[in-house]
Amino acid sequence: MTSLEKEIIRYFEQLDRGYFMDENKELAFWDQAFSIGYGQTISQPTLVLKMTLELDLFPESRVLEVGTGSGFQTALLAAFSASVYTVERIGSLHEQAKERLGEAEFTNIHFKHGDGNQGWKENAPFDRIMVTAAAPDVPESLIGQLKNGGKMIIPIGSPHSQNLMLIEKDGEGEISSSAIEPVVFVGLVGGEE
Ligand code: SAH
Repeated sequence: MTSLEKEIIRYFEQLDRGYFMDENKELAFWDQAFSIGYGQTISQPTLVLKMTLELDLFPESRVLEVGTGSGFQTALLAAFSASVYTVERIGSLHEQAKERLGEAEFTNIHFKHGDGNQGWKENAPFDRIMVTAAAPDVPESLIGQLKNGGKMIIPIGSPHSQNLMLIEKDGEGEISSSAIEPVVFVGLVGGEE
């Protein structure tokens, strides 16, 4: 394990998941997903950590996150990268995450209310992309907004079961992908324009 990975784990262990929840706060330490309203969920902590480690962040990385949700994953990404651009389609979740992460004094997170299938063109390209909702295929716009040498983590599959995939773009822009493990995420709503 690298020293950065150790640091990420240490930070994660002291990050208060309950702060990002409205209900079931007292159960925040349970390793399971919980409802955050609007049919959406806060992912289980071990998965949030695993996805973050697989993304292979570095201090200068510019990260796109699709599916802000509670903002719990956003906080972890922001602590170990230069800037995070996070997109959420449900207005209330977007507002709430913005408020919570603002109060927690994160200054390197940029919030957008909108459809993350399109990424965030104005701020592309990104070194890293984290998608926290399930898609049938990797959205083309997201591949387009990934830098050469970039990495993306995304659950790909049907609404009820997916594979967590690591998508890599090499120095020549060639794409390769590998499956990490089976997962179940809520769906990425909408499609490409
Ligand atoms: N990482 C979040 C996961 C939230 S669940 C957490 O742990 O709290 C997935 C989120 O993706 C939901 O908030 C959902 O509203 C959002 N989402 C679904 N489709 C989306 C889309 N097309 N664009 C942006 N956000 C989307």
